[in-house]
Amino acid sequence: MKTVYLVIPCYNEEAVLPETTKRLAEKLSALMEKGMITKQSRAVFVDDGSKDRTWEMIEAYHNTQPEFFEGIKLSRNEGHQNALLAGLMTVRTHCDAAISLDADLQDDINAIDAMVERFLEGYDVVYGVRSARKTDSFFKRSTAQGFYKMMSMMGVDVVYNHADYRLMSQRALDGLSQYKEVNLFLRGIVPMIGYRSTTVYYERAKRFAGESKYPLKKMLAFAMQGITSLSIKPIRLITSLGFLIFMVSLLMLGYFLVRHFTGHTVPGWTSIAASVWMIGGLQLLAIGIIGEYIGKIYLESKARPKYFIEQWLHNDSYDADASSEIRSL
Ligand code: UDP
Ligand code: MG
Repeated sequence: MKTVYLVIPCYNEEAVLPETTKRLAEKLSALMEKGMITKQSRAVFVDDGSKDRTWEMIEAYHNTQPEFFEGIKLSRNEGHQNALLAGLMTVRTHCDAAISLDADLQDDINAIDAMVERFLEGYDVVYGVRSARKTDSFFKRSTAQGFYKMMSMMGVDVVYNHADYRLMSQRALDGLSQYKEVNLFLRGIVPMIGYRSTTVYYERAKRFAGESKYPLKKMLAFAMQGITSLSIKPIRLITSLGFLIFMVSLLMLGYFLVRHFTGHTVPGWTSIAASVWMIGGLQLLAIGIIGEYIGKIYLESKARPKYFIEQWLHNDSYDADASSEIRSL
């Protein structure tokens, strides 16, 4: 049996908490009864600087049902990703695995059973993936899918249709803790940690109360953040574009000279047209090359961990402790 923590970021969620806590308490006790998780397992609400009664409610739930609920309060609103990270990093040393989910329970909590099963089978990361988006509006669905396509075009390894509903084992969380970057885009980082991973499918429900805390503006900022914090492809695009325009300018130069010598131009046109194209292309190319170096500095400055050791085939008999055990047998 393993201790599993549920980590739930909350921002102005007073409307959903009564229902959410009810359903989660049922879920936790069912899992405990089935013997899948220990009695030490908990749901932890991370209050992300809410302006409503969210924190008072979390305190009340903790006081009345301490066997299920805990709370973490952030000093101010830091955004969903940071709230989630704060929660995961806080519980990391108290559990064998943590599952992150949204307070509105749009992610079907019945998938938790399958996640825990996969974890008990030995998987370190279990991604919750939406099998259907029937309940999302057409707009949300198409923007979200455009987002996943764009991310993969930019060379960022994200799991398609996976948001932040996932289980991570303790050692995967330890790995995550070693990413020191300030702009942390969890969906892009978690696949980079490695270890054995699998997916669990679920249907995404509608928000049962309250409003989405992710308006279009935040969604676009989030996509931008995801791309620029993980990829230097945009810089590469500038370099390629500069190179392309410079090549075109050479062709154009031939054309300009033909026009010039066949007498189809007014005086001065050839030199101006040629320099506009060539200088334009060269400038873009130069900016791209400088950008390439800035990109290198950028990636270096993140000082990402280079590896995590998944397994150590190690002969115990050489350890002092183990050999004394053998001797005592
Ligand atoms: N959230 C948060 N801080 C924020 C915005 C949102 O902790 O600044 C939480 C919110 O309480 C919810 C989760 O992030 O638990 C997802 O937000 P929401 O359901 O509004 O997003 P959507 O499902 O519409 O994408
Ligand atoms: Mg939601």
